[in-house]
Amino acid sequence: MTDQKNIVVIGGGITGLSTAYYLQKQIKEQGLPYQVRVIEASNHLGGMIHTEQKDGFTIERGPDSLLARKKSVFRLIEEVGMEDHIVPVSTGKSYVLAKGKLNEIPHGSFMGIPTQVSPFLFSGLFSPLGKLRAAGDFVKKPSKPNGDQSLGKFFRYRLGDEVVDNLIEPLLSGIYSGDIDQLSLMATFPNFYELEQKHGSIVKGLKQTVPKKKKSDKKPSVFRTLDTGLSSLVDAVHSKLDEGTVQLNTAVDHIEKKEEGYHLLLSSGEVEYADSVVITTPHYRAQRMLTQYDFMAPLAEMPATSVANVALAFDQSAIQKDIDGSGFLVSRNSDYRITACTWTHKKWPHTTPEGKALLRAYVGKPDDQEVVSLSDKEIEEIVLNDLNKTMNITEPPEFSVITRWRNSRAQYTIGHKERMEHIEQSLRDELPGVYLAGASYHGLGVPDCIDQGEEAVQRVLQYLDS
Ligand code: FAD
Repeated sequence: MTDQKNIVVIGGGITGLSTAYYLQKQIKEQGLPYQVRVIEASNHLGGMIHTEQKDGFTIERGPDSLLARKKSVFRLIEEVGMEDHIVPVSTGKSYVLAKGKLNEIPHGSFMGIPTQVSPFLFSGLFSPLGKLRAAGDFVKKPSKPNGDQSLGKFFRYRLGDEVVDNLIEPLLSGIYSGDIDQLSLMATFPNFYELEQKHGSIVKGLKQTVPKKKKSDKKPSVFRTLDTGLSSLVDAVHSKLDEGTVQLNTAVDHIEKKEEGYHLLLSSGEVEYADSVVITTPHYRAQRMLTQYDFMAPLAEMPATSVANVALAFDQSAIQKDIDGSGFLVSRNSDYRITACTWTHKKWPHTTPEGKALLRAYVGKPDDQEVVSLSDKEIEEIVLNDLNKTMNITEPPEFSVITRWRNSRAQYTIGHKERMEHIEQSLRDELPGVYLAGASYHGLGVPDCIDQGEEAVQRVLQYLDS
């Protein structure tokens, strides 16, 4: 063993890559005697970030939208010199498919919660009774502060079932690919609970905290992406890592605590020594590496849903009914199997050659998981059948790219935060220097993952310095 300390990052998705990048940056800046290794099970980096270039189309198999207000991803983009490739979303309008038709999302709603009264009153999404019930938010007492509750229960109590089913549920399920009646309020949107407690009403609370916009105001773009595809960020971060940092095609199967440091048993049969370890894999894989510790068991129980992303490329002439907007979400009580569709050629024009159209739909509702296992042909038929109910598509796609993301969407169910606190405290007590970061733990958007990577860097450096 040398004096140099070895930090191993397990998993080469965006969490693992940003962890490795910021670790090496700090090591260089502070002249620390540490080295970093990234061990990745598959044959490529990026994890769920995966761009495919085909016939002039840029197809995102995984994420395509970076939330503009979350800064860590743009900081990373700048760090690796990709800032000139940031492009804003090109249209603000989006729709919810409810009551058999596309309804524009009311102006001024934030995650489906109205912050302006008139667009909400004139929306065709809700009946007069549903609107009246939503006004209950102004008079209903704050929920009792007795622990966690589901997102669904919280919003149903404040705004009623109709607003939840026709607007809030499609928006939030779109983010979490889960059932909002099972998902934890405190692990996903604790700020709504805080607004309720502070202002007595989430609508009042939002009105006071979200800056007012006039309809005539030029909307700042809510989402951004890279015109070179999000895999180009992965490549750029990789290119900044020291040579030999990354080892592909190697899974970490097991972690053992030794008198000093840790032994990582690799799928190659080799053993890697580590002074500190950052595990950035999905939760169920992390649990399998540490099965000997009972405190990790809740990660084996934690659900994860599957989705399939279906990209369909057309000649523009095949789509007879063109719609002005970036796409639509589908309400749970609609008779559709797709959960959402992005008109990618409109949302991100750089992705599509002139005269062509690119649609990107999702299947895999929480109660329709079996659809993800159907054949490509069957999935394509389901998607086209649903799309034709609103879009009048007259020709088959020129090609399709179907990506199944099995058990990819970690579900932060009620009590998630407390469970994570317990697991992380136990790690500190029993496995000092071992950290969890990534989509299964404290936020699943790309920026949330980078935030966790940055936080893991601080923890590792503090630990090794102590
Ligand atoms: P992953 O990307 O899952 O990376 C984990 C890595 O660990 C993988 O490369 C895996 O191969 C590796 N691994 C697993 N087991 C082992 C092992 N035993 N040893 C070594 N390596 C191992 N987010 C947004 O912000 N905007 C979006 O528009 C958006 N859209 C999405 C669309 C889809 C279809 C999906 C699936 C996700 C989307 N997300 C979006 C979420 C976001 O992409 C992910 O949460 C994020 O990329 C996860 O990054 P990660 O590094 O934590 O995990």
